[in-house]
Order: sequence, then structure tokens, then C-alpha cells
Amino acid sequence: MTKLSCECGRSIRIFGEIPNPLEWKIISDSDFDRFQGAVDAEDVYRACISMFRCHGCGRLWVYWGGFEGTPVCYRPEG
Ligand SMILES: [Zn+2]
Repeated sequence: MTKLSCECGRSIRIFGEIPNPLEWKIISDSDFDRFQGAVDAEDVYRACISMFRCHGCGRLWVYWGGFEGTPVCYRPEG
């Protein structure tokens, strides 16, 4: 799958443009703590989880289990 269909009707490109303007990288404090001193950006990149933010509604789509899994959707309140 190269696109997500957001609940608001927009589609979010998962793959394609690099860097992806809708993609964020998140890492737990514990995982980040394993890196010390000067690090290879690729190693940090691989330790991160991918999250996409819909420009239309602000929902966040998080691939907790990697791209093989189904993303979890979070909707802003209010
Ligand atoms: Zn949306």
C-alpha cells in the first residue's frame, strides 16, 4: 500500500516523495537513550517509528508495528 485513506477523505502518501512532508519519525526515550555521542543518522532512522499527519484534519496515523502492520489512528479532540 502506498497511500492511506484518512477518515476525512484525504489520501496520505506513505511512499514516494523523500523527504515526505506528511511523515514524522518518533522514537521512545528508552530507544533514543541507547544512542550515545556521535551517531549514524541511518541507525537512528531505523530505530524510529513512522507517523503521518493528515493536513486536512490533523489525525495522526502511527505504524507502531512497522509498515507490515496496520496503522493506529489518533484524532485531535475538539
Ligand atoms: Zn484527515
